[in-house]
Amino acid sequence: MTTGALHIDVISIFPEMFEVPLNTGIVRRAREAGLVSIAAHDLRDWTTDKHRSVDDAPYGGGAGMVMRPEPWFAAVESLRGASLREQQAAGRAVLLTPQGRPFSQVVAQELAQEPRLILMAARYEGIDERVRDHLVDDEISIGDYVLSGGEIPAMVVVDAVVRLLPGALGSAASLREESHQGGLLEYPHYTRPPDFRGWGIPDVLLSGNHAQIDAWRRVQRLHRTSDRRPDLIADADLTAKERKFLADAAQE
Ligand code: SAM
Repeated sequence: MTTGALHIDVISIFPEMFEVPLNTGIVRRAREAGLVSIAAHDLRDWTTDKHRSVDDAPYGGGAGMVMRPEPWFAAVESLRGASLREQQAAGRAVLLTPQGRPFSQVVAQELAQEPRLILMAARYEGIDERVRDHLVDDEISIGDYVLSGGEIPAMVVVDAVVRLLPGALGSAASLREESHQGGLLEYPHYTRPPDFRGWGIPDVLLSGNHAQIDAWRRVQRLHRTSDRRPDLIADADLTAKERKFLADAAQE
């Protein structure tokens, strides 16, 4: 674990699922540059029976199995203990669950400020409620649908958080204007060729006038967001002039 960099522990019964995403693209480069260290742990390493079992039938009956509390407490407590010995912060334990607070760019920015995250990826019907009540610091959902496990949600969180770490992207400018930054969607992009099947590109992008290009891109962000995601506009970071511009456009 590198002191000063973000450290992320992920706990799951399928830690091998993390091999490809942790060793690909921006996440791999950020790890190699020492901006983040990430360890995927097998929950079964904290079981004490010979079958390494992590689940049991629900009290009260019903479908499916429930994850037992003991291995989760043992896993999170031992990871936190190790971090304390190394003078790291104890780390925020985050349960991935469809019942959690909605994940967003704002939540990713919040998590990127932490020195340490412990992501808990469950399976089956979920985890014994006492884990939520007495171990977990935060609960995050990646959307209003149910996946078969918390591994993919944990990967989503890792990817969104890591690319926000200073130095993770080739250009810090990429972050400034991308979708959901400041509550707006990004402007449209074009590249070569300038004419493709008779479809051209906006003249302003060929003008070389960067002030005009910036202004055009800002207007595109405003239009795109109000057309596609009007629900974002109320909380977006807009000037009074921009709000009036959108209100006038809506009236027309
Ligand atoms: N029975 C649970 C319920 O109705 O809330 C769903 C359990 S789901 C089959 C198994 C696990 O996948 C969850 O405990 C959680 O870790 C993860 N999971 C599923 N959907 C998710 C989502 N939208 N966001 C975050 N985690 C999710």
